[in-house]
Amino acid sequence: MDAVGRALGVHRVLEPVGVLPQAALRLDPDPAIGPDEVRVSVQRLNLDAASFRQLSESCGGDGAAVRAAVLDIVAARGKMQNPVTGSGGMLIGTVAAVGPGSPLGLRVGDRVATLVSLTLTPLRITDGLARWDGRSEQVPAEGTAVLFARSVAAVLPDDLPDPVALAVLDVCGAPAVTDRVVRRSGARSVLVLGAAGKSGCLSLAAARAAGATALTGLVRDEREAAALRAAGLADRVVVADATDPLAVAAAVGEPAAVTVVCVDAPGAEHGAVLATAQGGTVVFFSMATSFAQAALGAEGMAADVTMLIGNGYAPGHAEAALELYRRSAGVRALLDARVPA
Ligand code: NAP
Repeated sequence: MDAVGRALGVHRVLEPVGVLPQAALRLDPDPAIGPDEVRVSVQRLNLDAASFRQLSESCGGDGAAVRAAVLDIVAARGKMQNPVTGSGGMLIGTVAAVGPGSPLGLRVGDRVATLVSLTLTPLRITDGLARWDGRSEQVPAEGTAVLFARSVAAVLPDDLPDPVALAVLDVCGAPAVTDRVVRRSGARSVLVLGAAGKSGCLSLAAARAAGATALTGLVRDEREAAALRAAGLADRVVVADATDPLAVAAAVGEPAAVTVVCVDAPGAEHGAVLATAQGGTVVFFSMATSFAQAALGAEGMAADVTMLIGNGYAPGHAEAALELYRRSAGVRALLDARVPA
């Protein structure tokens, strides 16, 4: 295998041979590491919101069934990748072994968050997830994970509780892409769908810091609207079902230059496009986004908008998101409410 393939973890792909780990059906989660790999003792997983919602809804909210489903997926696939949403999440743990050729700069004993998706991280769970009730995205877990030469990991900050750091780092790509789009376009008006959620509130704070002056947060109901107003992150808070395009457009009114989709439910594509001005940009951070719905929907609306997939990685994204959390009382209020005690 060539060096590029090895650095990307192709040697861990069991099926189908030749694809990258993210696209694999099955990975080899053997905790014995190669010379350029790192083994992490897992402490906690963070299932991404779209995956957890799908699992929870398909199990009728039965926590034991959700736990069994996650265990089945990891046992079958050697990684945590929800077969319906295709998404994963990330994890925190302690570095247990470092291959002599690993370029990641980690040391045994470092407490780290993996900033590459669980969908490409070889994972073995050894405690049956006995300490998890199956009712929240954060999963106390024991087991092992493997990082490749080209993986990304961050040493956990000392000043924040682990569950908070995990929640922020899981969605740190959202404020990063929002910052980049607002700065590059010079956009003043930004709309965030799912604005009271974790990625939503961070995106609002990032848009403000990047110079946007007219921020609209769209939320599902009056309870979330009250929380978002109290947080003070948006200039305007509107209530609508993000999956109802006409309701979204009516609630938003004047279309925004930039729209960031941070809901965790499918079906927000058309509302997002409809609420975005001609020549504007829609960032689809949500893992529940359908490429076909977005592309064909925009075509059908004759909408001249640029549509971006919210890449989970950008240089400096982790530290920037942690800084937004530290600096913004509004972000802390909204995000802390979603983090398990
Ligand atoms: P979150 O904290 O659960 O926030 C999602 C928000 O959307 C919640 O406030 C939720 O309201 C709201 N919402 C759901 N359905 C809605 C609807 N029909 N109308 C209006 N609001 C609605 O989720 P998150 O952790 O920020 O994640 C958001 C999305 O980003 C997920 O799809 C997740 O999978 C994705 N994600 C992407 C990446 C990436 O790299 N691109 C990385 C991590 C996560 P309720 O709480 O009332 O349901």
